[in-house]
Amino acid sequence: MQATIKFIEEELSGLYPKNEVRSLAGILFKFICGLSFTDLVVQKDEKIPEIKLKQIKQVVKRLKQHEPIQYIIGETEFYGLKLTVNPAVLIPRPETEELVEWVLMSGIDKDARVFDIGTGSGCIPIAIKKNAPELEVEAIDISEKAIEVARGNAKKNGVDVSFMVYDVSRWRERQWGKFDIIISNPPYVRELEKQYINTNILNFEPHQALFVADTDPLKFYEIISDFAMPHLKKDGYLFFEINEAFGQEVSEMLAMKGFLNVELKKDLSGKDRMIKASK
Ligand code: GLN
Repeated sequence: MQATIKFIEEELSGLYPKNEVRSLAGILFKFICGLSFTDLVVQKDEKIPEIKLKQIKQVVKRLKQHEPIQYIIGETEFYGLKLTVNPAVLIPRPETEELVEWVLMSGIDKDARVFDIGTGSGCIPIAIKKNAPELEVEAIDISEKAIEVARGNAKKNGVDVSFMVYDVSRWRERQWGKFDIIISNPPYVRELEKQYINTNILNFEPHQALFVADTDPLKFYEIISDFAMPHLKKDGYLFFEINEAFGQEVSEMLAMKGFLNVELKKDLSGKDRMIKASK
């Protein structure tokens, strides 16, 4: 064991921060050998079977190419839940956990109707339904593969969320009824920001879920706000995750479209990250 841990640490050092290398080694042992850190300490002098060693080497090779560990093991944790992820969906971020927290803390009626637009892995509606089981929760995504992942995640976590493949820009082509809460974490990274984005994101995560044209950065915010105005009940809320550079712009756009009580909120790293507005 010890030699293998050393091998992993040496291979990854320099590519990942030191504490991340440790945690990657831990995740890897758990995934391939089913061993926790405590098991590792107890069994440190035991030899790893050749086949496991081979698997470890393969994973290390993928990590060296900066492939996210979540895609390699096919799982991540979000708001205390285990979610399946693959390259068809963005790996849920901690900022989005903060958005879920904000929604749940907003004093929603117990049986309210909630709608998530651009759901990806389904992290937002699943976490909400798990924590407020009486809500009626629905979600859409343009990607069929994402909806497949989201449906699997709802099942895995034993919650009933209604998912549908749908392109929100075509919302006028269908009847929706009214919602109490509409939420979205749409693509918001501008193409020009690509140069600052790490390889693990740029080369592996779905660009369709991340990027917007430099010339139209608020595209999805405008479409979703236009949808939300006629589809929110009176006093209903619209929640967005936003690009930290556009707090002001999104707030102004919402006010111009007639939304009330526009509230901007920072994430844990102090960046403008979320907006709430009411009708
Ligand atoms: N927060 C994500 C990132 O940093 C972006 C999410 C999004 O575009 N909606 O990559």
